Amino acid sequence: MKQDHSQFENLDGTESSVDDPKNFFERMTSRLTKQTDVETPAPPSIKTKEALLLLQNYEETRQGWFWSTDPDGNLTYLTESVAQVLDKTAKELVGTPFTQLFVGVEQNADNQRTLPFLLTKQTKFMELQLQAATKKDEKCWWAVSGSPQFDKAGEFTGFRGSGTNVTAQRQSVEDTARMAMFDSLTGLSNRASMSKKLESTLTAFTQQKRTCSVMLLDLDRFKIVNDTLGHPAGDQLLKHVAKRLTRAVGEFGEVSRLGGDEFQILLPDWEDRGNLGELANTIISSLSQPYTIEGSRCIIGASVGVAIAPFDGMNSEELVRSADLALYAAKGAGRGRFQFFSQDLQQAAEDRRMLEEDLRDALSKDELTLFYQPIVNAKNNTVTGFEALMRWNHGERGPISPGLFIPIAEDANLIGPLGEWALRKACDDAAQWPGDIRVAVNVSPIQFADDQLPNLVKQALKTSGLRPDRLELEITESVFLGESQETEEMFCALKEIGVRLALDDFGTGYSSLSYLQTAPFDKIKIDQSFVRGATEPGSRNGAIIAAIVALAEALDMETTAEGIEALDELDWIRELKVSHVQGYVYSMPVQNEDLCERIQAGDWVLVPTGPAKHRSDRHSMFRKVNIVHENSCYPAMVRNISKTGALIEGIVDVPVGTRFVVDFGDGQIAVSTVRRSMGQQQGLEFDQRLVDDGNGGLCTRTRVSPYLVAAAGMPVPNLPNDFYPENNQTQAIAAVPAFYTTDSWKAA
Ligand code: C2E
Ligand code: MG
Ligand code: MG
Repeated sequence: MKQDHSQFENLDGTESSVDDPKNFFERMTSRLTKQTDVETPAPPSIKTKEALLLLQNYEETRQGWFWSTDPDGNLTYLTESVAQVLDKTAKELVGTPFTQLFVGVEQNADNQRTLPFLLTKQTKFMELQLQAATKKDEKCWWAVSGSPQFDKAGEFTGFRGSGTNVTAQRQSVEDTARMAMFDSLTGLSNRASMSKKLESTLTAFTQQKRTCSVMLLDLDRFKIVNDTLGHPAGDQLLKHVAKRLTRAVGEFGEVSRLGGDEFQILLPDWEDRGNLGELANTIISSLSQPYTIEGSRCIIGASVGVAIAPFDGMNSEELVRSADLALYAAKGAGRGRFQFFSQDLQQAAEDRRMLEEDLRDALSKDELTLFYQPIVNAKNNTVTGFEALMRWNHGERGPISPGLFIPIAEDANLIGPLGEWALRKACDDAAQWPGDIRVAVNVSPIQFADDQLPNLVKQALKTSGLRPDRLELEITESVFLGESQETEEMFCALKEIGVRLALDDFGTGYSSLSYLQTAPFDKIKIDQSFVRGATEPGSRNGAIIAAIVALAEALDMETTAEGIEALDELDWIRELKVSHVQGYVYSMPVQNEDLCERIQAGDWVLVPTGPAKHRSDRHSMFRKVNIVHENSCYPAMVRNISKTGALIEGIVDVPVGTRFVVDFGDGQIAVSTVRRSMGQQQGLEFDQRLVDDGNGGLCTRTRVSPYLVAAAGMPVPNLPNDFYPENNQTQAIAAVPAFYTTDSWKAA
């Protein structure tokens, strides 16, 4: 016999390992049983004594434990170490029900229910995992085995069995399971568990004909913070973001982190785009508030893409793809905004990809030009300078707006060469202008982060011969993200050259007045969205603009209001004492040749012209729609549209008061009443207001469910084929039309 008892000779002469308490116990007890079940008990043999010692020895190692019960399930034997776990002695526990060693049925899962059943059925069981009824906080789990015992007459005498402590294994299984489900940094669900959840939700909801929305969210400029403040700071920031997100979403939905700076929100039974838009805006504004990370202040933004099942996808893959496309569009449209999915986005994404490719060759193909828009002194209408605005004349597609191609250039690493070209060209052009007239050049935050920018500016000035104070660089607030040392150094380096600096698009981002105190700006440009909103009732923009102007005056800075189109806006801006104005009310951006001509002609003073009033709520558009009236369907064109109504063209002589259903496509339907009628044009009022689509457009709050459309026998692209009723022929709406139509709009 070996001393360490790790191996021992079985009673039948074979060897067995003590690591396997089941085998060990079975062999030992069966041998002991054989010994003790004899009719006249004989004194234990030497081998039996040895076996008993081994059992005792094994128990003391605490690797396993033993138990036995009487026919009623009360303990007759229990290893001491097990009793200790329960803060008792074995003696105290003998005579009490075996089942009481474990937490009650109500506290734990199935196995706790199974045990009493197995005991009454007198069934052998192996490695049943049970939770110990410990009083302490820490959890203890045992794997318990047991066999029913019978005497010679076949009478049940109770159970005998063994157990091992499996807490560590169980913990690690639970940890692994948790890790597989949750994101370790933020504690939110992770991609895998969210995707499972989405799939099962959608499967169930399709059966129940319910709706469900998914928001995909991506942080804007997170990478900059991560790079400038370091990864631990980035991690901190993500934790804050997770908290703000969960708070904003509340009980309406579930937030998960898909990885990096991407989050997903599942919103069961949400389809109202008015509500979804509001929630998206709440989320964006909450995430855009400043954060304090390791003592530094930093600001990021967020873009959100929204897709709604069953309209934009029936299964998780389709729905997430749609939300992703919407997110991509939201980012492309300037970030910090939300966007609903629509079928057009697919095409737009494809377009963008092609534009990116073409943009690579735009410079070498000489397709870029600079236009110049006058910046005018609001008091005396004299031109003080021009802003250089890039134009891309695409070989096939004609002129493309910088609002579209500049973000593409920034994403595709092309802004460097494009910006350099613009700076050099603007300096060259301006050097030919007479007098002190200035030129303003837009500088992308990406250029601003490049430490070569001051050299480039110096070179452009030197080659062109332009005086530094005639060059103004327009910078947006996003250069302040991270508030790093580099930003400050860049400001100093540029100021040393002697160029002027303007803070562009103030009012679109974080609009923090603290930037004005810290950075050496000569001018603040108040964004047109700020100006425009200000004429709306209840807007506080006017008061804010007045405050900006007062502060700017105190700091000896100029102010420019951008995008002034109407005379009423100009009056109002003058009242607010904004010093300069830039907008169509004075001039559109013009080519350098036209500008030079006008300057030569001594055209320094511009007379403002334009509409008397700005109609901010009207979106001009040319969109084909179908108008359904009784059983007839008429093609028509929407000329302009607002949240409350639309001007349509194409149907002749419609009486005021006629009820029309406007079908915008994609399940978007607006019930409306004709309020004005002028020949082939009608002014409609919608029963239910339209809502913002997140991208400057409008959409209906809800859409006609594809379930309904399918039920009416119409084909719906999102639904599986077998979803249609038997007769799935499209039913043409056939009736004698009440009105004539005209197709004059087709020429438009
Ligand atoms: P921005 O710097 O804020 O330029 C003003 C924009 O407002 C210009 O749009 C201008 O045409 C437009 N605008 C001026 N007056 C009116 C008005 O009365 N009504 C309306 N609706 N719009 C008006 P544009 O030329 O399309 O440029 C858009 C943006 O593209 C610019 O905004 C600027 O951020 C960027 N951008 C343009 N050129 C360059 C460039 O050379 N480099 C960089 N990095 N960005 C540029
Ligand atoms: Mg600008
Ligand atoms: Mg601007």
